[in-house]
Amino acid sequence: MAENIDIKIILLGETGTGKTNLIITYYGEKFDINSKSTLDSKTNFKKLTINNRQCVINMWDTAGQEQYRSITKTFINGTDIVILVYDITRRDTFLELNYWFDTATLQLGENDVFGVAGNKSDLFIDAKVTPEKGELFAEQKGCFFSLTSAKKDPKSFEVLVEKLLEKYLKNKNIIKNSEKIIISEIKKKKKKFC
Ligand code: GDP
Ligand code: MG
Repeated sequence: MAENIDIKIILLGETGTGKTNLIITYYGEKFDINSKSTLDSKTNFKKLTINNRQCVINMWDTAGQEQYRSITKTFINGTDIVILVYDITRRDTFLELNYWFDTATLQLGENDVFGVAGNKSDLFIDAKVTPEKGELFAEQKGCFFSLTSAKKDPKSFEVLVEKLLEKYLKNKNIIKNSEKIIISEIKKKKKKFC
């Protein structure tokens, strides 16, 4: 039996966009209208089987430090998947995605897997950002895009996470396979010289 793969996912974006609620509902808890809670990253674990691999998903929530732009290195280090969240009813939260993308890529490089969630899709009638704009941003940055609603459709976020996990595992496999090819090439060359 193959061993578990630990995957760290972080959510970044402006305060009030719904990050905490997306995580709460992802772990099967109820949507929280007052949402004062911030989740402890040490306890947010979920096991999933993706592409026949057992994955342990650990999703990290910011503790409001995003408001002061004081995301720590500990928060970002070791991240495998970044999900940028904006609120479709607040244009400012969409414009700030550039800042959050740059913050993450500065420390992680662009090789990590990125997703964009246009959250609060249940408030579509009050939207200030069209889905096309969200999609275009995501496309330009090489991210997956999805409209989500922690309140009315938590499944939408789950589906986005699953797509990102699949991409992450695929990338990991490609790297592994290319390492194997390089090693076998080196071995072949060594044999020639023996
Ligand atoms: P955070 O600051 O990014 O962690 O955002 P929160 O999860 O604390 O949510 C901020 C506010 O938006 C709270 O009042 C939530 O109840 C509300 N909220 C979060 N997600 C949704 C959503 O999908 N739809 C609606 N209508 N409200 C949401
Ligand atoms: Mg929060």
